[in-house]
Amino acid sequence: MYSYYECDDLGPANWYKINSICNGARQSPIDLPASAVLRTKPLCIKNFEVKPDSNNIKNDGHGAQIVFNYRHNDKCLLSGGSLKYKYEVAKAHWHWGQFNYAGSEHSLNGHQYSAELHIVAFASKYGSLSNAVDKSDGLAVLAFFYELDNRNEERSDFIIKKDLGLIVKSNTNDYIRIQNSFSLKDLIKYQRFHYFSYQGSLTTPPCYESVTWIVANTPLKIKTEDLDELRNLKDNEGRCILKNCRPIQHSHQSRQITDYRQY
Ligand SMILES: [Zn+2]
Repeated sequence: MYSYYECDDLGPANWYKINSICNGARQSPIDLPASAVLRTKPLCIKNFEVKPDSNNIKNDGHGAQIVFNYRHNDKCLLSGGSLKYKYEVAKAHWHWGQFNYAGSEHSLNGHQYSAELHIVAFASKYGSLSNAVDKSDGLAVLAFFYELDNRNEERSDFIIKKDLGLIVKSNTNDYIRIQNSFSLKDLIKYQRFHYFSYQGSLTTPPCYESVTWIVANTPLKIKTEDLDELRNLKDNEGRCILKNCRPIQHSHQSRQITDYRQY
């Protein structure tokens, strides 16, 4: 089982022992630049406000995983922008750190945020997430940063805090149905946002180089108590999952990154 601790046998520097592609040239996450090649081509999100039939949640030993079960005719689809195909939203999960100020995987001009949301979509042409996961154009991942903001009592964009109580212990097999399902709008609020896009990889082993990354550069808000709740989740050995963010991979100098502005 892989780990996020540098000193462990299967810590991030040794993930290549699980799959050699973890040392590949198209690995994620990366530091995103302050500016990049500029394009104006909107990302389209179909059924942004549609709530799925159900959302299921589980703790897979590395964090909280959410599944979106959309009705057949109501699938949430990503297209346009940097995407050549249609991608179906399937899952979401979060990355965080041991300390409140450093938990995101990507960074923006050297700045690391408190946490990062990944919404995973697969190319419809492959039919399923498991079939698409290792194809070079198989996945699109929509990433949102969270920045710490404890000023406003009410205001947190981290909507699954209460659901985390259901999955404190890890259970790699069973998903639990969440009482109230939620749409992409509930999760990320904005349908139009500026984003960086580049060709990268899964940030967990087996690190397949199959992801078109879409990283929004406007962060959502999160509170200390939300981050504490995430760090209270347990791994397979019953220890708290204090962090699950992979270190930055290759610098952006060698990568083609496009900055998409939507007005
Ligand atoms: Zn992720």
